[in-house]
Amino acid sequence: MTTVGPRPETAAASETFSSWSPATGTPVGTFPVHTAADVHATVERAQDAAQWWSSLGFTGRSERLAQWRKLFVHRQAQLIDLMRAETGKSLADARLEFVLALEHIAWAGKHARKVLRPQRRRAGLLMANQAATVEFQPLGVIGVIGPWNYPLLTPIGSIVYALAAGNAVVFKPSEHTPAVGRWLADTFAEVATEHPVFQTVTGFGPTGDALARSRVDKIAFTGSTATGKKIMAAAAEALTPLIIEAGGKDPLLVDADADVNAAAEATIWGAFTNAGQTCIGIERVYVHEQIYDEFVRKVTSLSRQIHAGEDYGPMTTPNQLDIVSTHITDALSQGGTALVGGADAVNDRYVQPTVLIDVPEDATAVQEETFGPTVTITKVADMDEAIRKANGTRYGLGAAVFSRARGVELARRLRTGMVSVNAPLSFAAIASLPYGGMGDSGFGRIHGEEGLREFTRAKSIARQRFAAPISLTTFQRSPRLDARVDAIIKLLYGR
Ligand code: NAD
Repeated sequence: MTTVGPRPETAAASETFSSWSPATGTPVGTFPVHTAADVHATVERAQDAAQWWSSLGFTGRSERLAQWRKLFVHRQAQLIDLMRAETGKSLADARLEFVLALEHIAWAGKHARKVLRPQRRRAGLLMANQAATVEFQPLGVIGVIGPWNYPLLTPIGSIVYALAAGNAVVFKPSEHTPAVGRWLADTFAEVATEHPVFQTVTGFGPTGDALARSRVDKIAFTGSTATGKKIMAAAAEALTPLIIEAGGKDPLLVDADADVNAAAEATIWGAFTNAGQTCIGIERVYVHEQIYDEFVRKVTSLSRQIHAGEDYGPMTTPNQLDIVSTHITDALSQGGTALVGGADAVNDRYVQPTVLIDVPEDATAVQEETFGPTVTITKVADMDEAIRKANGTRYGLGAAVFSRARGVELARRLRTGMVSVNAPLSFAAIASLPYGGMGDSGFGRIHGEEGLREFTRAKSIARQRFAAPISLTTFQRSPRLDARVDAIIKLLYGR
């Protein structure tokens, strides 16, 4: 085993890049562009560290995670400042992200033992002489690749579950938010001084690609669907398993019996929080015709009270401004109407809230991830039509349903990984619930018990307790014994 090597940030990379504040245009920090060789060296160090970390056991690891959690609380101002500097998000958005991240650190540290301890399994009548157990062993080193929109919460949702399960982590943060990524690894190093259990590598796509091709034991990727596909192809070369948490186009359904005020409030928060740059942000609403007019009136009036630059921050990347602008223009050119905002809602940094109605279902604003503070509202004759339309995109991440009588029933019929009923995005704040999508939104689950198990290998052990009177695993089986097995099978399963 090696002791702590040079920090990857100070290793061989000679090229550097800077992250910038999208609100002010000033630089936040300068970071190395790690090469494939740097990434491989980092993963190698992590392999040794993983053995030490795993040997600490659940108690040792949970103590370190608790120390890290406390350090988060004591230095929250510093972390929140960095998050805001690199993304431009409002203080309210940054605080919420911080609190949710803390929940996950606490939950994973506290529950890993109970979820992952060895379990006894029934061996069955034919194998009654065996003691059957399954253990959940750590995989080794997890490569985490993260996005910029929630630079703390999204990677933490993989990192702490991987760590709590006994793995080392190599994290490649987004090129837009490397300072937050480095803060995480630096602070973890303070509570695990012995070995580099959690390291960060910085750079652009090629650095992430090198991590996907390295000898990591699993990849946990959060980002766009297009990048997810590239990473899956890269990981296929070494048959490295992966989790993909990709984009979304989340719908909100409003039934005739819904609390219209609550649904309108949820729509504007779900659509505009974090400037709409939320993978589980509400981008489409389907409303029962009986309450459509009232709902649209309320959403319009509430949206007029929300202002970019006050209630939420700028778009984090210039690229995002172009996408949002294209979606709005396309919706309007296809017959849509902007009740709030519209084409001139997009300026050089900020996008004002935009509410669109009468947008055809095949417009990009309904089919593609906009990732901005815009929302489409569509009238439906009944909830069957709402479900059909909600399920009509390639994505399948989250959704929300507002209905007094049929919330859970409608939630079950949505083709998504998660649904909140009569509240916006609530599943994401419950650490015990698995998080993830289907279709173009990806696969695999982070958070909760399922999230801990994602970062383990189920190891089955069958221990013979005594020689069996009927042994099937021998060439010495007699016709008499086979006849007896036949009789037992008929008795057990043939009736
Ligand atoms: P992105 O796909 O552009 O980048 C994500 C990460 O992948 C970055 O660190 C980037 O450097 C890296 N990367 C780029 N090319 C790569 C390659 N070829 N190989 C390996 N790594 C590579 O995504 P983004 O713009 O940073 O994030 C926004 C997207 O993330 C949105 O689509 C959003 O919906 C999604 N997202 C999903 C979730 C979720 O939980 N499902 C959460 C947050 C964000």
